[in-house]
Amino acid sequence: MDIFEKVHSFTAARDAMAAGLYPYFIVLDGHEGAEVRHRGRDLVMCGSNNYLGLTTDPRVKAASRAAIDEFGTSCTGSRFLNGNLELHETLERELAEFCGRQDALVFSTGYQANLGAVSGLAGRGDVVLIDRAAHASAIDAAALSGAKVRTFRHDDPESLRRQLRACPPDAGKLVVVDGVYSMEGDICSLPDLLSVCHEHGARLILDDAHGLGVLADGRGTESHFGLADRVDLLTVTFSKSLASVGGAVIGDADVIHYLRHHARSLIFSASMSPANTAAALAALRVLKEEPWRVDHVHENATYVRDGLRRMGVDVGASSTPILPVPTKDLLDTFGVWKSLLGKGVYVNPVVPPAASYRLRMSFMATHTVDHLDRVLSAFESEFASRPAAVLQA
Ligand code: PMP
Repeated sequence: MDIFEKVHSFTAARDAMAAGLYPYFIVLDGHEGAEVRHRGRDLVMCGSNNYLGLTTDPRVKAASRAAIDEFGTSCTGSRFLNGNLELHETLERELAEFCGRQDALVFSTGYQANLGAVSGLAGRGDVVLIDRAAHASAIDAAALSGAKVRTFRHDDPESLRRQLRACPPDAGKLVVVDGVYSMEGDICSLPDLLSVCHEHGARLILDDAHGLGVLADGRGTESHFGLADRVDLLTVTFSKSLASVGGAVIGDADVIHYLRHHARSLIFSASMSPANTAAALAALRVLKEEPWRVDHVHENATYVRDGLRRMGVDVGASSTPILPVPTKDLLDTFGVWKSLLGKGVYVNPVVPPAASYRLRMSFMATHTVDHLDRVLSAFESEFASRPAAVLQA
C-alpha cells in the first residue's frame, strides 16, 4: 500500500478552492493588529487572539528589535545545551511572579508547553483525563504520554468524577482543562473541578492560553475565581495576549525543575527566539502597567455581543472576548464567511471536527468603536439578506 495514496483522495480543500469558497490560509499583505489588508482592501480583524492589541505596540516592537541587535535572530539550539539566554530566565521570573507562582519554564510554543507538561509528568500506568473541548495540544500531549486517556463531558465535574472513580486506584491521575475555551469562550468551572480532583487525589493542569491577559486584571482563570496558587500547574501561550510566539508552564519550583529535565519538547527543540522572548516580556510589562487594556477588550466584546443580540443573532453564553456565532453546515459557514469578508470583516469559519459549525470572532482592546460598528453593520446586512436562515435567533 502506498502511504501517499490518501494524498490523491483528499479533494475537499481543492473542491472548495475551485468553488471560490476556501477560507483558510488567507494571505494578508498588511497587518496592523485590529486592521489587516487582503488583496488591497482593509478589513477589520475579528479572528485574531491579539486580545490586548500589543503586536503593534511601539514598546513591544522596540524590545523585539533590540533583542535581535543584542542576541541575533536565533539561538540555534535548545535551551538545554546552547540556547538559554538571560532573557528567557527573566521572562520566567516575571511571569511566575505575575501569576503568583514559584517558577516558570518557557517553551518555543504553547503547543510545546502542553506537550512537555503532560507527557513529562504522565506515562504508562497513569491516566490522563481531558475535557472533551480541550485544545488539540492537550489531546496530542496525552496521546504522546503513553498514559491511558479518558475524556469527560465538557466542563462537567460530575462526568469527571465518574471517570476518576473508574480509574485504577493506584494509577497517577492527571486532569487537563482549559481556563477559557477557545471555541465557545466559556470559562471552566474551576472551583468544582478542583474539588473533584482533590477528592480523588488527581492533579490538575489548567491551560490558560485564553485566560492570561483576559481575566482578573490579566492574571487569568485562577485569579478570576480567587483561587490563586491552587491549581497544580498552569500552561500559557505567548501567542495571544502577549503578542509573541512561545509558551510556558508555571507552578511549584520542584515541578518546574523536574520538567526542565524531562520535557522532551523543551530539551529537543530550539529555544524561543530572542525577538519573540523580548516581545513577550515587554508585553507582560505593558499588561502589568496598563490593566485598562483588559477592561477595554471586555467592553469591546460586550459592545458587539449586545449589538448582535439586539439583531436576534445567537451569540452563546460567552463572557470573554471570544464570540461564537452558530451556522448551519459547511456551505453555510463558508458562504457567510465569504460574504462578511466582502463587507470588510475578517472572521474565522470553524467546521467539525474542530467544533460544531460556527463563525468564531474574538475582539481586541485596540478595536475602535468605528471598527465595531463596521462589524455590526456587516452582520446586519448579512442577517437582513438571510431572514430565516443562517444566523439563528
Ligand atoms: N492551548 C490553547 C487553549 C490554545 O488555544 C492554543 C492556541 N490556539 C494553544 C494551547 C497553543 O498555543 P501556541 O499557539 O502557542 O502553540
